[in-house]
Amino acid sequence: MTYDAATKMQFLYALRSKGVTDARVLTAMEQVDRADYVRGTFADRAYEDMPLPIACGQTISQPSIVGIMTQALQITPRDKVLEIGTGSGYQAAILSKLARRVYTVDRYRRLVHAARAIFEADNIANITAFTADGSYGFAEQAPFDRILLTAAAEDPPGPLLAQLRIGGIMVLPVGQSDTVQSLIRVTRHEGGFDYDELRPVRFVPLLEGLGQD
Ligand code: SAH
Repeated sequence: MTYDAATKMQFLYALRSKGVTDARVLTAMEQVDRADYVRGTFADRAYEDMPLPIACGQTISQPSIVGIMTQALQITPRDKVLEIGTGSGYQAAILSKLARRVYTVDRYRRLVHAARAIFEADNIANITAFTADGSYGFAEQAPFDRILLTAAAEDPPGPLLAQLRIGGIMVLPVGQSDTVQSLIRVTRHEGGFDYDELRPVRFVPLLEGLGQD
């Protein structure tokens, strides 16, 4: 299957019908061919609105959830964004179309290497992908205008809250790994943090330390 005009139209229609309505987000998602990020046997299902398996026992998120999270971040073109959970690199590629600079981190070296190769093939030059335990954020580049977690934490990790700029927004799933999780948005103000609950979601858990692969 190719990412031709008809496929794109159908893909975007499905996103809109699930609540992705921000025109800039839809344009960014139109520009990134999800099939580049889904390899092997599942590649022909890349344009369906479902999560799919990737290497290291992880998943590429459902496109409509990617859209909803991206929309909730309200990214502006000057923003420096940190993503925890590179996975396939798909979400980072979409962030890269909206932000000035994207840092993305995964605990699996193999996923980071695969994602870097796709960014290069797709001529995306404003993403830095690296291997680390993202629970600690990336102090060297802090503060960030936006932070996105694509793995579920029990609570927003303290180092990430600390690395969010005042006026900045962080979006993350919170909850126990195998039970119901909520997508929440944290906004940092001069005096503290505001929390909005957006919707129920289901993500792989945020784990400690580096992966084996
Ligand atoms: N954003 C991805 C989907 C990510 S799935 C995409 O667009 O495809 C969640 C990812 O979070 C997995 O790849 C997992 O390895 C990673 N992860 C889990 N805990 C982590 C941690 N502490 N630090 C960095 N990455 C982590």
